[in-house]
Amino acid sequence: MEDMNIDFTKMNGLIPAIVQDALSGKVLMQGYMNEEALAKTQETGMVTFFSRSKNRLWTKGETSGNFLEVVSIAGDCDGDSILVKANPRGPVCHTGSDTCWDEENTSKTGFIDQLRAIIKDRKNNPSDKSYTASLFAKGINKVAQKVGEEAVEIVIEAKDDNKELFLGEAADLLFHYLILLEAKGYELDEVMDVLIQRHQKK
Ligand SMILES: [Zn+2]
Repeated sequence: MEDMNIDFTKMNGLIPAIVQDALSGKVLMQGYMNEEALAKTQETGMVTFFSRSKNRLWTKGETSGNFLEVVSIAGDCDGDSILVKANPRGPVCHTGSDTCWDEENTSKTGFIDQLRAIIKDRKNNPSDKSYTASLFAKGINKVAQKVGEEAVEIVIEAKDDNKELFLGEAADLLFHYLILLEAKGYELDEVMDVLIQRHQKK
């Protein structure tokens, strides 16, 4: 809290707290925190607001079980708003909706960024036990060869009708593709730039 520079006096003791899904980036809900609520959120790792209707601290999920597990907390540029990134244990809104704006929050593609961070870490901090680190150690030819093998395997599974095997090969190909990008020193965003440019030309 010290390094967050939240100024509770500026807003009569209550600061808006925006909760964002740490994986999908969706805005899930907004509530208010006083200093105590923020301290409890940090202590317990579960998002806790000050409820103006209940006039007390309210841990989101205390009755429903749909807690919001804290991943990170940050103050904004001028210290009068809090952004909490969290993993929701269930639907967030009391209406049963995934978000308080009645949106679906089912996308897991944000996990690709977590996976990329892990792959980068395996390259920069290799350990003997890591398969990914061992691939980097063998060099670009081996990494590229693995992508080629996985591409052939997904082609084979595409001709069959086994969902589990196909998805397994799809995961293998995506994983090794990300390793190849990292081994070449490129970011996935650079691939996205190419796709975006192509799309804009049309
Ligand atoms: Zn709601």
